[in-house]
Amino acid sequence: MTVSGPRRLLAPAIAVLTALALIGAASPASAAPSYRQMQKRAQDAMNSVVPTVWRKALLKVNVSGVIGGHSSYSARNRGITIGTYHAQRPWVNLKSVMAHEFGHHIAFHYGSQRVYGAPPVGFPQKSSSQVETWADCVAVAMTGKRYRYSNVPPCGTAALAWTRAWLKKGPTNHPRTRV
Ligand SMILES: [Zn+2]
Repeated sequence: MTVSGPRRLLAPAIAVLTALALIGAASPASAAPSYRQMQKRAQDAMNSVVPTVWRKALLKVNVSGVIGGHSSYSARNRGITIGTYHAQRPWVNLKSVMAHEFGHHIAFHYGSQRVYGAPPVGFPQKSSSQVETWADCVAVAMTGKRYRYSNVPPCGTAALAWTRAWLKKGPTNHPRTRV
């Protein structure tokens, strides 16, 4: 759930602790899927949850890798790196994760560019991290479900309505702010 760039790599400490408790109870090491299986599962989840028009607008955005641990990452022009914890979550949760990460990529190319990963111009919610709140709004808009992350200020009602309307207009009706 973290935007990672050349100078930015945040570790969501509380999420890690929570996730450890869950994974210890449910996933014996012998049953763990391969990285390739996890990559495919995450890719399939992304393809199923992101509207076709948006996937076509950002064809290069795919699951580029799998990383051990409890965080997933997005970086401009480097795709989505799925954490092994997220990759093994129930399908409905994985879809939320993938919609969230795809939301970061929408911001990379259609955002205001005020900061790395900033939401599109006009996004109404102020928070401690507009970058993450925007991605949360995209996830809720695309899935209709809420999936909380400890390092993400949740999308509010007004911002969700704004994001839904913004996404519905489609990529061709918004300025591409970065190739
Ligand atoms: Zn995020």
